[in-house]
Amino acid sequence: MRYAEVIVDLSAGAVDRLFTYSVPDGMAVDAGWQVEVPFGPRKLEGFVVSMKDECGLPPERVKPVLRAVRDYPVVLPELLDLAVWMHERYLCNLVDALRLMIPAQMRGDRVRARTVRVARLKVSRAEAEAFLQANRRAKAQAEIVRRLIEAEELPASALPASALRALAGKGLVEIAGEEVRRTPLALKDGARSSDPELTPGQRRAVSEIADALERGGGRFLLHGVTGSGKTEVYIRAIRRALELGRTAIVLVPEIALTPQMVSWLHARFGADAAVLHSRLSAGERYDEWRRIRFGEARVVIGARSAVFAPVENLGVIVVDEEHETSYQSDRRPRYDAREIARRRAAAHGGVLILGSATPSISTYMRAMPGVRSENRLELIELRERVHGRPLPEVEVVDMRGEFERGNHSIFSGRLARALEDCLSEGRQAVLFINRRGYSTFVSCRACGYVVKCGACDVSMTFHQVENVLRCHYCGREMPPPKTCPKCGSRYIKYFGAGTQKVAEEVMKRFAGARVVRVDVDTTREKDAHEKLLERFRSGEANVLVGTQMIAKGLDFPNVTLAGVVAADMSLNLPDYRSKERTFQLITQVAGRAGRAEHPGRVVVQTYEPDHYVIQLAAKQDYRAFYLRESAYRRKALYPPFTAIARIVFSAKAAAQAQAAAETAETALGEFLDREGMRPDVVQMRAVEAPIKLLRGLARWQVFLKMYFKGDLEGVSREMQSLADRAPEGVQAEFEINPSNLF
Ligand code: ADP
Ligand code: ZN
Ligand code: ZN
Repeated sequence: MRYAEVIVDLSAGAVDRLFTYSVPDGMAVDAGWQVEVPFGPRKLEGFVVSMKDECGLPPERVKPVLRAVRDYPVVLPELLDLAVWMHERYLCNLVDALRLMIPAQMRGDRVRARTVRVARLKVSRAEAEAFLQANRRAKAQAEIVRRLIEAEELPASALPASALRALAGKGLVEIAGEEVRRTPLALKDGARSSDPELTPGQRRAVSEIADALERGGGRFLLHGVTGSGKTEVYIRAIRRALELGRTAIVLVPEIALTPQMVSWLHARFGADAAVLHSRLSAGERYDEWRRIRFGEARVVIGARSAVFAPVENLGVIVVDEEHETSYQSDRRPRYDAREIARRRAAAHGGVLILGSATPSISTYMRAMPGVRSENRLELIELRERVHGRPLPEVEVVDMRGEFERGNHSIFSGRLARALEDCLSEGRQAVLFINRRGYSTFVSCRACGYVVKCGACDVSMTFHQVENVLRCHYCGREMPPPKTCPKCGSRYIKYFGAGTQKVAEEVMKRFAGARVVRVDVDTTREKDAHEKLLERFRSGEANVLVGTQMIAKGLDFPNVTLAGVVAADMSLNLPDYRSKERTFQLITQVAGRAGRAEHPGRVVVQTYEPDHYVIQLAAKQDYRAFYLRESAYRRKALYPPFTAIARIVFSAKAAAQAQAAAETAETALGEFLDREGMRPDVVQMRAVEAPIKLLRGLARWQVFLKMYFKGDLEGVSREMQSLADRAPEGVQAEFEINPSNLF
């Protein structure tokens, strides 16, 4: 008898363990298979984690596996190991990790292959011709046979049904279901392109990576200025991997970025390229996933979760724009795709390439001398743009001066003129603004009241297109007030510009401006971002207004002007990473301009023109910024020199959340004392969360900062367990190095 150790597909601590089932004779089930098993009175799906020959229980006590849900292992052995590792590393249920390994709709069998019915001849050509001779009068049938002799195979739906049935009845024709793959939009256009000649810098990069690939693996940070051609380096490294019979994964931060990367990779790798992301329809996702699983596509492109793509023999894994926060999952399991990528590369003896023009401080630090070998990244630099194209000039405009001169518009004189010139020369412009919507907050002039969301402690954003106030945290909407809810005054004013307002102003002020706006609101629908970007690419639109969605990765040759409408918005956020993020943003936006023959111009509007972040970003001097920022973090004890962890407690009443946080604080304090870990801790306290109300729940947190030399894993485990033991009516969420601190 064989036994299967199964994790059932229910996410709950109580069933986060293996259950043993017997495998009936003749049933092909093995580790990694998706199965259905009896579970109490129910039937549940589950994943086979391992097999064994004995189970130590009397046979009648062991229930049998009911069936295999699919006739192949859905989780490959390497990914099964990875899930087990994630279970420990991210303190999640094993099934939460396993669920990441297959498209959601494959669970509960909610997606099927799409088939079309096709007709083909079942007899030889000679026999078919004999039939034509003998049946001249059965016109419709003869016609079908004639067409099938020619075409071999035709969709059944294109042929007259009754005649077809008659032929099938006579055994002349067979009708079979044939699977058709659903192809994502981005992979539909068929343009192929050939390899450009590499620049010397690219050639060096590719050869270093290819050497590592042949030697059994390596880890690289590809730091290249914007427009230095990092993508081409990825492509050649991948090409080499394919030549060696291996596969590749390319991760991009956001779906809005994917169309361009996808079309490049598609143009070079054709049907070998597959895409995986959450915006695909269930059917497309399932089909792409199977093309990858069965080796029909060997190059996978996708956002964060594509790091789990079921490739075998992985040779190259690329994380493009590695500094983006979207690589960190904000849901349980809170995995970091870069860390997963690194593990997968190591498991296959493949190469990891982290690429960016503005690497995160912690990544860059790992490419500096003196880092322990297991953490080290080899640094490869591309210091110049392709073909010696210059980096664009960045002009910093002091908005205080504009205001003093009586210019109260959102455009400085400089940006307005630059935009006019750009448009009159027939070029295109990209304008970046950190907020979507029209006005970022609504306030009463008489009493200062700011309209806030009823369920969250955040101000409401005005959306003019829909004429509503909307909360960007919970989505709640309300009509804009006519009078102040607090004092009754009619002097309600709208402050702060968002994408809608910038787009409107551009259309109002600049003749010949044709605007596309790209933000969360305009890209909700499937394929919307591809279509919007296509309107810009084709020249139908000449001004692209957008949020961080447009800040990175896009490569439009006709763009000669990039404008940052308000650089300070992100600089003053209460987060130790706000300087790093602002630097990245400005550098990346600047990088959109002047990528082809025409030189680019960049205008950055700010109220703090002398701030070193603005100054260094304007010079696009990453190294200087890194040195300054890392020195600051070392001194102020911020990551990567320390680790930050927290438990957020949310409850209907603030007192409840506070009590839970304070209880946990005490318990954690006792734990630290017991383990003698106090000296490793920089800070530990219960405080109200920066956003104290979210989706109707009051929030408190236990915040912890500690040195890396301490037993971070032990503390994490303790904090997770405190979160799991939160009192009734209190939600608790444990996070380590959270991507935001609100
Ligand atoms: P990065 O990601 O470093 O900002 P990209 O990979 O987007 O840069 O490349 C910038 C532009 O240069 C793209 O249009 C790309 O097609 C082009 N390019 C890259 N390498 C070469 C090359 N060797 N020869 C000609 N054009 C290149
Ligand atoms: Zn008022
Ligand atoms: Zn809200």
